[in-house]
Amino acid sequence: MTAPRCGYCGELSRKTTGKEVYPHKPKLSEIIIYVCDPCHASVGCHVGTDRATGTLAKRSLKGKRIHTHRLFDYFWKQGYMSRKRAYENLAFAMGIPFKFAHIGLFNETQCDEAMRVCKKWRKKYEPTATEDFSKNEGGGNLFPS
Ligand SMILES: [Zn+2]
Repeated sequence: MTAPRCGYCGELSRKTTGKEVYPHKPKLSEIIIYVCDPCHASVGCHVGTDRATGTLAKRSLKGKRIHTHRLFDYFWKQGYMSRKRAYENLAFAMGIPFKFAHIGLFNETQCDEAMRVCKKWRKKYEPTATEDFSKNEGGGNLFPS
């Protein structure tokens, strides 16, 4: 694919690899990454492809997307709903078309909204839960109040 435009400045991004962006992570050296140098924004690609996983993001947005994904993935990984159903439910709850229900496309406001949806789901599916999610690989408190 052609390099995506940076959503912050509107310029075309530059194509590079993990070798440049993550020099200390040899595992990522082959991954193709699009970067916008002036904005310090970037997006990685699906392994073995030059298809971006979403839109270019700065550090704060990346952190939010990662956190949102951890909350969201919990529900289909636990089997409360299928993965597809989870995305359908998320799209419905956020009032967005299913095809845009990808956390990699979300901005910070949408991440906040998606996390609120996940917190509602937790109340629905685990009404008695008070503890953190120990099964969560990422560790830490997934659902800070
Ligand atoms: Zn930019």
